[in-house]
Amino acid sequence: MPISIMLDAGHGGFDPGAVYNGRQEKDDALNLVLLLGEILQQRGFDVEYTRTTDIYESPFEKAMEANAAGVDYFISIHRNSFPTPNTAEGVESLVFNKSGIKYELAENINARLENIGFENLGVKERPNLVVLKRTRMPSVLVEVGFINSDSDNMLFDKNFEAIAAAIADGISDTLGSSTSMQSMTYEIQVGAFRNELYANRLLQELLRQDYPARIEDSDGYYRVRIGMFHNLDDATQMEQQLRRSGYQTLVLSAE
Ligand SMILES: [Zn+2]
Repeated sequence: MPISIMLDAGHGGFDPGAVYNGRQEKDDALNLVLLLGEILQQRGFDVEYTRTTDIYESPFEKAMEANAAGVDYFISIHRNSFPTPNTAEGVESLVFNKSGIKYELAENINARLENIGFENLGVKERPNLVVLKRTRMPSVLVEVGFINSDSDNMLFDKNFEAIAAAIADGISDTLGSSTSMQSMTYEIQVGAFRNELYANRLLQELLRQDYPARIEDSDGYYRVRIGMFHNLDDATQMEQQLRRSGYQTLVLSAE
């Protein structure tokens, strides 16, 4: 089954979101979401939208829509705003909390947008935002630059296609390309040693912490690995847990 993503263009209808010199956040968000959706579809993702036209739905309705559709991920696109124009700029992504694959998604999307030229303001926790709190799947809200920053708007307009592609890249970086997911398996490599002793030492250390590790030897290397995982989410969560415990990891995929 392809990975399904619901894209949400922030605001809409009577709610313009942030406004600056006649420019409305709801329009920027919708235009970007429609192009992002096309790109993700081309990459094999199953894309759904909260809205494809200028209509209003409450954040709660949007979250319920995603839950009812049973999508795997929810990505909401917004533009930021600061009380004083032209004093703040950059992209930031919001998540319910900084854990799991949503956090990784947010980091990867920010990093890709930083490559376009935006300042990277990082990932922020917003546990009270309804679309982050009430959605049952990993959800990220991306603030694609400040709508009341002339320089961010210039970046946004000049690089519109590149920005949509960058967000898609951040998603692909994290989730892989959807079409290749079906028969893929994932393993996590925690170490590769020529000396079996070192591999065994790492193996024992991992087993003591209840990691289901094993050693595979081939080509003169003893590789300490964990897995098979049949979906990337599970592999990624395990990888993050290992990294938090201080291990260097590498996710390997195979068909
Ligand atoms: Zn907004």
